[in-house]
Amino acid sequence: MHTKNMDSTHSSDTTTTTTTLSHSNSSTSQSPASPPAQYGMVNNAPIVVLSPCAACKILRRRCVDKCVLAPYFPPTEPQKFTTAHRVFGASNIIKLLQELPESQRADAVSSMVYEANARIRDPVYGCAGTICQLQKQVSDLQAQLARAQAELVNTQAQHANLVTLICMEMAQLQQQQQQQDQQQQQQQQLLAMSDIFQNDWLFTEEACQGSIWDEPLWV
Ligand SMILES: [Zn+2]
Repeated sequence: MHTKNMDSTHSSDTTTTTTTLSHSNSSTSQSPASPPAQYGMVNNAPIVVLSPCAACKILRRRCVDKCVLAPYFPPTEPQKFTTAHRVFGASNIIKLLQELPESQRADAVSSMVYEANARIRDPVYGCAGTICQLQKQVSDLQAQLARAQAELVNTQAQHANLVTLICMEMAQLQQQQQQQDQQQQQQQQLLAMSDIFQNDWLFTEEACQGSIWDEPLWV
């Protein structure tokens, strides 16, 4: 299935349809060679007088000058009109285009051809099937996004909790370390004091001993 792009490249130059067909009856449109392309010079530029537009050719009618369908259904793309005609009908297409300003007609034709293609592809839902599918996809993705956002908020809260816990534990550890340091200092002080005390004691003992042994018992 080929996709129709919504371009409007078919400018109005294709409206220069031949008016020489007026003498020919409708059967001439059957053979592509019957309306011969005529070449002329207008303002020193060669212009090609094209065969009737695809719509008029398919409808087997005379493609008049200023044919409302000609700018949008060039003879090079007959499938476009066949598709739109099959679903909307020629008179509906013409009516719709006549009711629209010229600036919006190309887009209208593009969307009609798109819709017609979708309807032929899916006779039950047409392009509504595609729209529903896409809407479902959108709501699924929105739900997925909401879940991901909730998960993110949860993870951020957990992270904040963990940081708080780590800070508290670090503070506790620091406090314990300080206490240990203090205890060690106190112990060292105590030890130092006991050393001094012991030295004093030894000294006194030595002094006593000295006093005992240095002195002759008898002279
Ligand atoms: Zn036409």
